Amino acid sequence: MAVTRRQFMKVSAASLAASSVGALGFVDAGEALAAGVRPFKLERATETRNACPYCAVACGVIVYSLGDRSKNARAEVLHVEGDPDHPVNRGTLCPRGAAVLDFVRSPNRTKYPMIRKPGSDKFERVSWDVAMDRVARLMKDDRDKNFIAKNRDGVTVNRWISTGFFGTSSQSNEAGYLTYKLVRATGLLGLEDQARI
Ligand code: SF4
Repeated sequence: MAVTRRQFMKVSAASLAASSVGALGFVDAGEALAAGVRPFKLERATETRNACPYCAVACGVIVYSLGDRSKNARAEVLHVEGDPDHPVNRGTLCPRGAAVLDFVRSPNRTKYPMIRKPGSDKFERVSWDVAMDRVARLMKDDRDKNFIAKNRDGVTVNRWISTGFFGTSSQSNEAGYLTYKLVRATGLLGLEDQARI
């Protein structure tokens, strides 16, 4: 019979409590104690696999949440731990990754695009369409103005050095490939992410 991690934890907690008391000769007490063991707190949670966002190692994490948006119940993350099946970290996390729940819950976390209009002293939320259109417009205008086709010796260089681009090393190979292609196709030299590659 296949036993999931969740079932294993539940059975282990009950068995440990029962066997400890039972070993002392209090069989009935052991059974009563096992019956009173609270359910494993993550038992009802939804498990979602993801990657730690902090560094280039990209350790696998399991995010536990309660609630279901499709049922109009606000989903909330209640626990994050290392993914034991992930080939990079095998369930381990460094102190920074182990504290990622604080990052998820931080009131300072940016969850959507924001813009500070000229002359304003505060940021305002905008849609992704507005944000993407604005970024594309600014990039196009800057490239048209500052693109360097040839250097002073007349050698073709096709450089664009007045804008930089942030990527991320936590994305997939395919997304990284597309990012690199986009950046280099425009002539951008400044490409940075936390892996420094
Ligand atoms: S857990 Fe630590 S080592 Fe792993 S990706 Fe996160 S920050 Fe990097």
